Amino acid sequence: MKRIVIKFGGTSVGSIKKIINAAKIIKKRHEENNEVIVVVSAMSGTTDDLINRSRQVSDSFNKTELDVLMSSGEQISSSLLAGAIIELGIKARSWLGWQIPILTNDNHASSQIMQIKTDEILNFISQKGVAVIAGFQGVSKENRITTLGRGGSDLSAVAIAKFFQTDSCEIYTDVEGILTTDPSINKNAKKIDKISYEEMLEMSSLGAKVMQPSAVQTAMTNNISVHVRSTFSRKSGTKIISESDIDNRRVVTGIAYSKKNAKVSIVGVVDKPGVAADVFEPIGKNNINIDMVIQNTSLDGKKANITFTIKQEDLKKTLSIIEKNKKKINYNKVTHDDKLAKVSIIGAGMIASPGVTYKMFRCLADEKINILAISTSEIKISVLIREALTQKAVKALHKVFGLN
Ligand code: ASP
Ligand code: MG
Repeated sequence: MKRIVIKFGGTSVGSIKKIINAAKIIKKRHEENNEVIVVVSAMSGTTDDLINRSRQVSDSFNKTELDVLMSSGEQISSSLLAGAIIELGIKARSWLGWQIPILTNDNHASSQIMQIKTDEILNFISQKGVAVIAGFQGVSKENRITTLGRGGSDLSAVAIAKFFQTDSCEIYTDVEGILTTDPSINKNAKKIDKISYEEMLEMSSLGAKVMQPSAVQTAMTNNISVHVRSTFSRKSGTKIISESDIDNRRVVTGIAYSKKNAKVSIVGVVDKPGVAADVFEPIGKNNINIDMVIQNTSLDGKKANITFTIKQEDLKKTLSIIEKNKKKINYNKVTHDDKLAKVSIIGAGMIASPGVTYKMFRCLADEKINILAISTSEIKISVLIREALTQKAVKALHKVFGLN
């Protein structure tokens, strides 16, 4: 007998019909003689809808109350799903985060899981019951409801795999697995059979939306293999595993992108130690994430320009922070641009094959796409380009790196 955790995303439980379909999959997995723990997201659209309602009250709606509100979506889906399983003649019940409890810190809206109590659920599944756990939520030691960040039911599933020591962790979703790129902008996207944790972490952090980055991170640190697969077909999906278990690797595994990036250039700062710190310290203190950074110096070496990228939504705030610190930073002017995208190629095989950078840049040049900034790590290269050229860039790179 195996113990499995299977997670259903919002689109897999997006309607009553789909909930009944998910219940049938669960029934089948249960009949295969598995101890089954189910984790479920809110029905698709629900969480966005709840957030919109809070905004109608206030743009700065109280964070702890927002967690109570957002977590209610999973209360609906977990009860409907447990009820649907019971209808199929199988013992089942739902658990909300606080009932287990799933203990988290009190970092509301992006809490970390500290501990999960297992005895009650272990007892239930050992007596042929299916446990349905509301994803995305927990409870703090102050006894307040918390949530794990958008897309957080992936993290719930991986953490449950860890604390319940399950034999497998499967993520049922609306695509056939992890694809080489976003199929909505490139119909040549192909399913990846195996991908390493590191690559998946880059893919999800750089814009691929299939799995939440902190879930991948948790899987990686605990060496939990994750199988991402489709709710609507029986085919095997993508296995996220450790690098050493992957043979036959390609140089580039996938191409990710994120739109809505903005770029800010601070022109004419004095080139001396401490300037970059003066620029980035107040921005960091305001919880704004800086992504790429470029600095160039004028020919006489006295002045420098500092350019960096942020999320488009942070642009207004960033500009006002810089303005407020004008005296301290001491610059000539600030320019900005907010219709940019970051396109990245990812692949652990890059480490061992020279010339990837050149090939990427040549490909973009041939498409007449101008590169505005570059950042690299051992297994990825990202470029900043005009947002309108995203699809063109992704398609060309997908072809050049042999993914079509
Ligand atoms: N319902 C939550 C969200 O939309 C969590 C999840 O779907 O994983 O972000
Ligand atoms: Mg999701």
